[in-house]
Amino acid sequence: MKAIRIHEQGGVEVLQIEDLPIPEIESDEVLIRVETAALNHLDLWVRRGIPGVPLPIIMGSEAAGEVIRVGERAHNRFGYKIGDEVINIPIHSCGHCPACLAGQENLCPEFKIPGESMNGVQADYIAVPAAYVYRKPESLSWSEAAAFPLASMTAYHMLVQKAQVKPEHTVLVYGASSGVGSSAVQIAKAFGATVITTVGGAEKVRQAEQLGADYVIRYDQQAVGKVVKELTRGQGVDIVIEHPGQATWKESLRALKIGGKLVTCGATTGPKVEIDLRALFIKHQQIIGSTMGTRKDIIELVNLIERRKFKPIIAREFMFEEVAKAHEFLEKGQAFGKVVLVNK
Ligand SMILES: [Zn+2]
Repeated sequence: MKAIRIHEQGGVEVLQIEDLPIPEIESDEVLIRVETAALNHLDLWVRRGIPGVPLPIIMGSEAAGEVIRVGERAHNRFGYKIGDEVINIPIHSCGHCPACLAGQENLCPEFKIPGESMNGVQADYIAVPAAYVYRKPESLSWSEAAAFPLASMTAYHMLVQKAQVKPEHTVLVYGASSGVGSSAVQIAKAFGATVITTVGGAEKVRQAEQLGADYVIRYDQQAVGKVVKELTRGQGVDIVIEHPGQATWKESLRALKIGGKLVTCGATTGPKVEIDLRALFIKHQQIIGSTMGTRKDIIELVNLIERRKFKPIIAREFMFEEVAKAHEFLEKGQAFGKVVLVNK
């Protein structure tokens, strides 16, 4: 079978399409024939050189496809059968520590992400434990199905589990065109909140409005914190969904209300930021870290998808063989939504 694998970290030239054996499955696993696999910024970091990546590694965290083989326990315990259309839940945890038993898999000390700390899903066939498989929502195309798990579970976890978003809240979501941003705008709206979001470039304003954003700020032209203050009559927002990091941090804090929560899951523009502790405690604000999500988040997201409250946004599709081009496209930052690899 073919698989997209790297043996060393570097430019797009390290992405190899290789011929590997079809994986054997364990009793608790299913074998999935991959139809589509989506890219994330994580793919770029893994390729370029974040530490801790076991090499060689099959790339990619999320995929959709058809079940073609089922282990005995995967069938008996989870009911999977040949022909089921499924997605993989892009997490892996020990399954027996207190965090796992409480359904908080992303707090597990052995938490892993496919395509980052273990072999990923950009291959013709993948063996996945049935516990990390979920049915593909019928209303979604193969590309849409592969495109939502990672970014959307991250956004859902931040908004719902960490910030406890409510209809009376105003939420600032950075980067409506990103996977996390386009998900967070829709999820916050689904929970009835008022949403302010940011985009770079005039052509993205309308796309952000179509997602349901109430206000769209051009971050390439305006100081985000200042505009947020004007829009909220000097109050600021209840929740900030942060992922750019260094470049936006100051404006994020400026935009946050007294008693507000800033939830961060990323540092795309750099990891070092400044905090004035006096401002933080005087304003009773909370800064909350969050990464990835849980099985429960995926189940609740699929619920939103089925109620037509949420839809993954696809920027562009590439063939598996065009993975280098797909990385370059994502790297340029021009995309609105997700980049998907199609396996033909
Ligand atoms: Zn665990």
